[in-house]
Amino acid sequence: MTAQRILKMGNPVLRQVASKFEEDEILSEDTKTLLEDMWDTLELAGGIGLAAPQIGVSKQLAIIELSSESERYPEAEASDAFIIFNPQISVIDNDLQGFWEGCLSVPGLRGYVERPKKIKIDYLDEFANQQSIVLEEFLATVFQHELDHLIGMLYVDRMEDVGTLMFEDEMDLLDEVGEDEILD
Ligand code: ZN
Repeated sequence: MTAQRILKMGNPVLRQVASKFEEDEILSEDTKTLLEDMWDTLELAGGIGLAAPQIGVSKQLAIIELSSESERYPEAEASDAFIIFNPQISVIDNDLQGFWEGCLSVPGLRGYVERPKKIKIDYLDEFANQQSIVLEEFLATVFQHELDHLIGMLYVDRMEDVGTLMFEDEMDLLDEVGEDEILD
């Protein structure tokens, strides 16, 4: 169990389409170790989600947990801990919602991104069992952000207006952006 270095934008692994897991591979000791490393890395970084490519493993795995103790997201409600292998996303409501997104692989920056507000995700859990969840509002955006990492995309690619990209310390000086509209 070791926290790993988080790759930053510019590292080509973040731009690869990640490969799927075989079912027996999900249950393997190697994958258990990978998951432990990912949770340790996420906890140390203080984020709410992490995808395997962010620590250099180009495989379709992401973890997400909203902690009520997050300093970065003081108003976020706590969520279950999600472990997502081989996800398939379907859009249920194509109406868009916007949040100020950040990313552990794009440190220090935030950008405004609009995404569909209701989605369904079919995936395999850590026991290789098929699962399906419907997500809306903040969690819908969090999942879409994390799962984009599995197809080589970063939130900056989803920005309609690159002019909204800003440094966090500049954003802190502004009043108009509510804390509840921010994620990474
Ligand atoms: Zn990210």
